[in-house]
Amino acid sequence: MKSLFGLTPDEIHSLIGAKERFRSRQIYHAIYTGIESFDDITDIPLALRQELSEKFSLFTVKVDTALDDEDGNCKLRLELEDGLYTECVILSDGTDRKTICISSQCGCRMGCRFCRTADMGLKRSLTAGEILEQFLIGQKMAGKLSNIVFMGMGEPFDNQDNLFKAISILNDKNAIGLGARRMTISTCGVIPGIQALAESPLEIKLAVSLNSAAEEKRQQIMPITYRYPLAQLKEALKEFQQDKNKRFTFEYVLIKDFNMGDEDIKALRHFTSGLSVLVNLIPWNTVEGKPFQTPDRKEIALFCSKLDKLGIHYTLRKRKGFGVSGACGQLAYKAKKN
Ligand code: SAH
Repeated sequence: MKSLFGLTPDEIHSLIGAKERFRSRQIYHAIYTGIESFDDITDIPLALRQELSEKFSLFTVKVDTALDDEDGNCKLRLELEDGLYTECVILSDGTDRKTICISSQCGCRMGCRFCRTADMGLKRSLTAGEILEQFLIGQKMAGKLSNIVFMGMGEPFDNQDNLFKAISILNDKNAIGLGARRMTISTCGVIPGIQALAESPLEIKLAVSLNSAAEEKRQQIMPITYRYPLAQLKEALKEFQQDKNKRFTFEYVLIKDFNMGDEDIKALRHFTSGLSVLVNLIPWNTVEGKPFQTPDRKEIALFCSKLDKLGIHYTLRKRKGFGVSGACGQLAYKAKKN
């Protein structure tokens, strides 16, 4: 049965063929209020409720496993209708700020060498409805969510249409009503996606996974660099910054003896000059079988002190979700069916 999540009011209208157009808007509004069944939409006629229940569905995504860690984070392995798995993480810091990290695809075809998801390849992109369902499931489990990062499994800009459709429903006051500034898209550097975001009227935030500012090194760990070289990426980011007059962030996964040396810092300084940017440092989460190591505390502190000296703005991400297989793909990968 077709789910009504992820459809515009017009699409719902043409599907249900209701005579009065306002009915489809009522249904569109109601399904994002957290209802479990069409029977709960009490302001539409009983016959229409029954018809909806016979022909359509709501949730297609099921929580397969929920893992809590001691920091108050919760990682969910989600089973899709076709039996594939994806994942999302709810990050709470004890305040009103509750962030959900949402997946845009099942698997990924970007091939980053340090990433577990890359080993799966791309199974398929998620529908707009499946992207939205993650948010609704998160709210059911954790209460009101304040922020979204599209930083879960997959490359958001490799599923741009469905992503943008989901975002417009998330943002729509008649549906979920989450402010655009509370949403962040994280990309490995897909330039047309960055340009599309710059052109969007919505002020969605941008994060770019840099991980190395040295062309050849970045090619080694992130093959997307062959397609979109660093110089072009920087140009696109400069334009993004001009268009939107906004800051963005770089993510920089710290890999011992690989991207933490003086040459790497020099390249990072060169690359960040002329950009107003914050670098988010993330110690690499160990993935078994990969030829990388995570740095120890001392090595991280030394790296940070060198950034301090050069005036490069950074934050060091605590290993959020580490205890719950937090890094991209580490939970869904364990599922046999994938
Ligand atoms: N494709 C998007 C979003 C998914 S990856 C992107 O590249 O941004 C989300 C973030 O997780 C990226 O910054 C990536 O560099 C990081 N990441 C992937 N595997 C990791 C690991 N094992 N340890 C730490 N960070 C990891």
